[in-house]
Amino acid sequence: RKNLGGIWKMASLSLKNVCKVYPNGFVAVKDFNLEIADQEFIIFVGPSGCGKSTTLRMIAGLEEISSGELWIDDKLVNDVEPMNRDIAMVFQNYALYPHMTVYDNMGFALKLRKVAKADIDKAVHEAAKILDLEHLLDRKPKALSGGQRQRVAMGRAIVRKPKVFLMDEPLSNLDAKLRVQMRVEISKLHQKLKCTIIYVTHDQTEAMTLGTRIVVLKDGIIQQVDTPQALYNTPQNLFVAGFIGSPQMNLLDAKVVENAGAVTLELGANFSIKLPEAKGKKLIEQGYVGKTVVAGIRPEDIHDEELFLTSSPDSIIEATIKVYELLGAEVNLHFDLDDVTCTAKVNPRTTARPGDTVKFAIDLSKLHIFDKETEQVIC
Ligand code: ATP
Repeated sequence: RKNLGGIWKMASLSLKNVCKVYPNGFVAVKDFNLEIADQEFIIFVGPSGCGKSTTLRMIAGLEEISSGELWIDDKLVNDVEPMNRDIAMVFQNYALYPHMTVYDNMGFALKLRKVAKADIDKAVHEAAKILDLEHLLDRKPKALSGGQRQRVAMGRAIVRKPKVFLMDEPLSNLDAKLRVQMRVEISKLHQKLKCTIIYVTHDQTEAMTLGTRIVVLKDGIIQQVDTPQALYNTPQNLFVAGFIGSPQMNLLDAKVVENAGAVTLELGANFSIKLPEAKGKKLIEQGYVGKTVVAGIRPEDIHDEELFLTSSPDSIIEATIKVYELLGAEVNLHFDLDDVTCTAKVNPRTTARPGDTVKFAIDLSKLHIFDKETEQVIC
């Protein structure tokens, strides 16, 4: 694999039962197991305090691993110093040296390593070309935009040709528009460099658009590791179901009722839907009849259009619109099913407005059913 005038090194990582217990006894990361293949773009996502940065910092060597093993390729690196791990980290506050030019900022790490001037020059120009920074090499950081500074920070990491890039919320200091631009830049960068990237974010859009695989964390424990598509289509538990997707998946308590082999979910006193045979069978087999489960349906899988209303008569519910939100390309309609507020994401052509009673069809093929106690998916 040729890159930046040299062969880019392969890098796979393996985390085996990695735990982090801080000196105050707080368990920040618990039994973290993950195999990362060469060239993967792995995302750690989860709410504030779930252990994303701690895990990334353990990989970088900035935080001691309390127990478990970290392998980079075929080397156990638990006790290897950060600078000898062949890893480059890009932080959210990209901390450029203000008195140095872009060129010197980018070449600094190589200069420290006493790399020959001509080689530094070559590496800096190659990285600058990839990041479209060639015309800015003589500038100081204060004469750059936020996005340009962010690209210099990336450039500083690239010139080192590390085995692995670690990025901790690198876009969080940028405004919304620039964040979208840089997201695309990082995606292109990954395609160009064909490198292994581990990227921390709490932004699910960044996670979904950038990652080849996403690791969803909560309270220091991995909830699910999957491709963006699989996370969206088949969330394994209630937490992942609620965390991925915007607006959030509607989650409703539902009573499982059987009538001559046909299974109905009672979503409240006045709302019920008849389940497709396969789903109903599964609930019967697993002993859920008479019990309460959690039904999950994404806003985009609730339709108000004629086509769906006529094609799926088993899944029609009728509700009064409480709030109408126009978002340009789509409309969110909010309505109550008993005491739970639900959202349907519909076409902006809709004429429904607050106060109107509307018929909705739930796309039953997209219905998720969870165990209320264990919070794990049933079907
Ligand atoms: P955020 O998105 O807010 O950055 P995060 O997922 O990156 O959150 P971490 O920074 O990894 O979370 O922190 C995980 C947990 O460990 C948090 O509850 C935090 O309070 C705790 N923690 C972090 N550093 C220490 C420390 N030095 N001593 C004790 N607890 C710590």
